[in-house]
Amino acid sequence: MYDDAARKVDPWEVDQRARCDHFGKHPTKKASRAGLERWKVLADIVMEWLRSDGTDDAAAEIASNQLADFDTVTRDLIGSWFTGVRRVIHPDDGELDSDPVRPRVTDEAGGRYLTVPLIFALDGESGREEVRLVTGSRGTTPLEAAIFYSDGEEDVELFDMRASSGELTPIDPPEHGPALIEEMFEQDATLAAEPKGPPSPGLHCFLCPSAMRCGEYPLISDGSPRASTRTVTLSRSNISDLTRCERRVAWQKVHGIPKEDEREGYGSSVGSTVHEIIAAHLSGSSPKDALDAARQTCPPDQWSEIAYLFDQHLVLWDQHPALKVIAVEREIGFGGMMDDPHESGDGAVVMIGRPDANGWESETTAAVVEWRTGNVAEPYPLESEFYAVAAWEKIKAMGRALDQVAVHHHFLRPETPLCERRIFSELELIKAKKALAEAGRTALSWDPNDPSQPPYTVGDWCTTCPFENRCKRHRGDSELQSAGNEIRQIR
Ligand code: SF4
Ligand code: SF4
Repeated sequence: MYDDAARKVDPWEVDQRARCDHFGKHPTKKASRAGLERWKVLADIVMEWLRSDGTDDAAAEIASNQLADFDTVTRDLIGSWFTGVRRVIHPDDGELDSDPVRPRVTDEAGGRYLTVPLIFALDGESGREEVRLVTGSRGTTPLEAAIFYSDGEEDVELFDMRASSGELTPIDPPEHGPALIEEMFEQDATLAAEPKGPPSPGLHCFLCPSAMRCGEYPLISDGSPRASTRTVTLSRSNISDLTRCERRVAWQKVHGIPKEDEREGYGSSVGSTVHEIIAAHLSGSSPKDALDAARQTCPPDQWSEIAYLFDQHLVLWDQHPALKVIAVEREIGFGGMMDDPHESGDGAVVMIGRPDANGWESETTAAVVEWRTGNVAEPYPLESEFYAVAAWEKIKAMGRALDQVAVHHHFLRPETPLCERRIFSELELIKAKKALAEAGRTALSWDPNDPSQPPYTVGDWCTTCPFENRCKRHRGDSELQSAGNEIRQIR
């Protein structure tokens, strides 16, 4: 028997704590747990179907019954996953074990354990197949595979089943499984103690439940967050997107609707390389060294464009001799308490962004600098406002005096590169805060249980939206047929 007092080690959390050992230490309540709930509903549907006679009618009836109380977007999503799953497994494939024993590895002292959740197993003619149902982007990791195969049973195979496509991916034992397990226990032991230094911000902050309480992002309103405060975390680009289409942000940040694709192309790869070279230059490398380092890994067909954009940066940079950079690509932001119409208590919104650089123009003027490598000719909506407030609040929290914040946008693409500089005085900052608070209130207004509710606005921006196809199916006039009908159509 297992020791019930043993502590479960969550590798994902350990991984995040390796980036910031304050991660998750003082959490507030998640914006929504919709992703996990949808996964559970799908697992129930699949299990019921595997116990059924396996006919299309049975599948349609199960889906209709189980999804009857959900909104149209959730029905569409889970219905399409069920369709994907049914493409590859059928009740005739083997005898269902709907509660397989979870593989579990304990540490030497027996006080901690690692485990892998399985969903079901099918005992068929060719042996036993154990299946993990994948509805997000992440499948079984090498560590999870090591845990799974740690009991040494050889006649069992593990599969990831990607619900969106029905694709089955066999998971083989990793090469150094026992070492991976040992490393994870060691890393956990190192990080389980109280945090050793100050919080260490980074991209992991966007996933961290402690952003309202760790002190890295100053609180700019009255009230104080508690563990029960529902919190929405918005990125700088979410704030800009929100001014165009609420649904896009709500689906990403509150409802966790899976993205269709990342839509990254040639342009974004050139842009990120140029940003990397500029970051290296501002962090102390000479322009030549920064360029030479990037050239090693850059695709040759992109090089002349990259070199041109970096030269444009140097032209503009020479025009700013007084600008002193303090940090490059470091997250800044703030949090605010506000009414949550969906909870009995307060809610909170944290806004976090990663300016390309920030520092000082003069003793009392803070500066934020963004570089633009594409064809855009102006800052994104609310972008300058966000950076100005974030820089101001950060500096105030550090106890240093300042009069104003300058937000620079350096547009590198035009033949004559352009610096647009906007000054935020205290009065401008008050206006900026009001606009940002409005964005925060909007984010808390979305019902976390109903992704069909946030309004959508169609425009040019839809071409870069990761939800475009699903969104089109839910625009009122072409409302999706019931999940049951969709399921009937696949066979
Ligand atoms: S929000 Fe960022 S800095 Fe704060 S605890 Fe979380 S990971 Fe660390
Ligand atoms: S496709 Fe357009 S309308 Fe739909 S969510 Fe995306 S941005 Fe909004």
